[in-house]
Amino acid sequence: MSLTQIQNRIAKAENQAGRAPGSVKLIAVSKVQPDARVRAVLEAGHRVFGENRVQEAAGKWPGFRYEFGPIELHLLGPLQTNKARQAMELFDVIHSVDRPKLARTLARLSDELGRCPDIFVQINTGAEPQKAGVLPDDADAMIAECRALNLPLLGLMCIPPVDEDAAHHFQMLAEIAARNDLTALSMGMSDDFETAIAHGATHVRVGSAIFGAREAH
Ligand SMILES: *Cc1c(COP(=O)(O)O)cnc(C)c1O
Repeated sequence: MSLTQIQNRIAKAENQAGRAPGSVKLIAVSKVQPDARVRAVLEAGHRVFGENRVQEAAGKWPGFRYEFGPIELHLLGPLQTNKARQAMELFDVIHSVDRPKLARTLARLSDELGRCPDIFVQINTGAEPQKAGVLPDDADAMIAECRALNLPLLGLMCIPPVDEDAAHHFQMLAEIAARNDLTALSMGMSDDFETAIAHGATHVRVGSAIFGAREAH
């Protein structure tokens, strides 16, 4: 499926949900994709991309930025505190802020660097032991902590369990955001971005539906 087809499906889902045209941002998730596929999407004019790993992104995006100009980069995968500085220098938005210690590290580094990427707090809506994110019960406290640290908090992010109805998780994320006066919701991937838009997603993270299947690695 092409970039244009995904953009059209997003526009249709916005319309069906009574959302303003252009209110949903498409993050093209380019992790593990061959450079030629990423280049094709850049040449089609897209400038918003997502990556899972700091190291992989650091090898790929400085060159593309040099060649194509400003590109908005989103970090979607778990972030270790010892990679936080590099991540802050490379990314415009970090979706995976999932623990107070990381929030404090980002705050300290933002004083040092004089800038900070926008952040999302990741919520583990399915309370899955192997998955990153703060538990739903800890969400309000984590949001308060980020605010106390003056981090530029945009909203919340989730990755629903693979074997469950995603809509329930999108609904839960939207409720936690609403009661905390947060407007941005990073939710929805290739298989469920239209459902996410119906539940208020402002940022959808679409990889394989744009680029094709990822090679295992
Ligand atoms: C890989 C990934 C995506 C994109 O997944 P697709 O199913 O290929 O669209 C979105 N969000 C996160 C956090 C990811 O790791």
